Amino acid sequence: ESRTSAAKVTEILGEVRSLLEELEPELGRMDAIAGDGDHGQGMVLGIRAAHATAQRATEAGAGARTVLVQAGASWSAEAGGTSGALWGAALTSVGSAFSDQEKVTDQQIVTALVQAVEAVERLGGAKPGDKTMVDAAVPFRESLAGAGGAAGEAIAVAADKATTAADSTADIAAHKGRARTHGEKSVGTPDPGAISFSKIVTLLGQQLSA
Ligand code: ADP
Ligand code: MG
Ligand code: MG
Repeated sequence: ESRTSAAKVTEILGEVRSLLEELEPELGRMDAIAGDGDHGQGMVLGIRAAHATAQRATEAGAGARTVLVQAGASWSAEAGGTSGALWGAALTSVGSAFSDQEKVTDQQIVTALVQAVEAVERLGGAKPGDKTMVDAAVPFRESLAGAGGAAGEAIAVAADKATTAADSTADIAAHKGRARTHGEKSVGTPDPGAISFSKIVTLLGQQLSA
């Protein structure tokens, strides 16, 4: 059973990798408006490292917990940038909520995602309205908290909230990260980290509903 979960985790990371490779130019263009233009590149470096590590660990017989904890460490190490540190911590946090021995349950997945967003909030220190990924992640977390039943459906509903919130970041000026020095320029363009977050969790909802 643990092998099934580890293989599923690795398969989903492969899907996220394809998504981010496709989004790379668009995320880069968004980040170039008020940031340094490397968000697409950073996310692709991170997910490629995370996916490769997950493949190796799964082949070596590791369970879901170890696969995700190691994948998170690889993401942080290879991606660089603010988002790299935060996504690495998020993956490691999700893994920490799972077991290596038993099959991952729907309730564990929901709890793990809530805790991963809390880790991002704690580490980054950003608040909703600062125009960061937290603007999308907090409505996602709030929608998931208390959700029961099928994880895929609960994540899909929460991902729709994240998407609406990510799109709305276009209306505000950035305060955190590099964007804070060019905040006014960012009005009219959504935050790239909020957009990548919403796209990833939308894909996750689809993958877990299938
Ligand atoms: P860098 O800013 O180091 O170049 P990236 O371009 O990969 O890193 O990521 C930029 C994204 O990181 C921003 O669009 C924003 O969503 C997110 N971000 C920046 N600072 C924070 C923070 N303190 N907390 C949460 N997210 C942040
Ligand atoms: Mg950047
Ligand atoms: Mg950078």
